[in-house]
Amino acid sequence: MAKIFCVANQKGGVGKTTTTVNLAAGLALVGQRVLMVDLDPQGNATMGSGVDKRKLELTVYDVLLESASVMEARVRSEKCGYDVLGANRELAGAEVELVEVERREKRLKLALAEVATDYDFMLIDCPPSLSMLTLNGLCCAHGVIVPMQCEYFALEGLTDLVNTIKQVHANLNKDLQIIGLLRVMFDPRITLQQQVSEQLKEHFAEKVFNTVIPRNVRLAEAPSYGLPGVVFDPSSKGAQAFVAFAEEMVERIKGM
Ligand code: ADP
Ligand code: MG
Repeated sequence: MAKIFCVANQKGGVGKTTTTVNLAAGLALVGQRVLMVDLDPQGNATMGSGVDKRKLELTVYDVLLESASVMEARVRSEKCGYDVLGANRELAGAEVELVEVERREKRLKLALAEVATDYDFMLIDCPPSLSMLTLNGLCCAHGVIVPMQCEYFALEGLTDLVNTIKQVHANLNKDLQIIGLLRVMFDPRITLQQQVSEQLKEHFAEKVFNTVIPRNVRLAEAPSYGLPGVVFDPSSKGAQAFVAFAEEMVERIKGM
């Protein structure tokens, strides 16, 4: 049975999509069966997995509106070694359309349950908001992975996310927990980043992943080739860090 993780942080540009596609590719590389679900209408995780969002006939939008199953809508990214349930601009409409329907926050959960035995991991790339789409992601997840930059305001934004997760935990999904905070775009030469990193460990202890993702230009270049850094340049520091993170995740789920 697949373990399902949301990659969430309501801030934009913090590394959610980079984390999702590279963790997916890293997990595939170490032999895990992975479904990557793009829940962001920007479709960056779809494109970054080598799937052209403009050419998709069925997307996660159709799944949320129950006009297609995951089995029908998923596509294989051969280059990346994982399956993709893609998204494009159409998904922005789901936010409004879902308001009217029944079980609106459970749609994704029910749909993913049908393919749970096909995968070891499902990773959900969330949009930069605490919207109905993110709520759908949080409702089906066993855990939330929170990528964060070690900057001065990093902890401030975390409060809203932690409160949302607590509410979802209490009302909709008692499995949900923050599985971990992932330090990303880390530059050890910057003293402030080291200090914030230390503060994170003091505050959140074992909730902070051991792996640290460095700032690495290869990770930033990879999306323009439609690939995760892990596939684009496996020998780069960034790719190696994500493979190490994949191994850490495989260890973590053993206790779940
Ligand atoms: P989000 O999905 O949270 O909006 P992205 O994953 O799209 O964030 O990352 C924002 C930008 O930062 C992108 O241009 C991405 O290529 C770049 N980026 C992300 N992680 C790294 C990293 N470790 N090193 C260098 N650039 C990164
Ligand atoms: Mg993104």
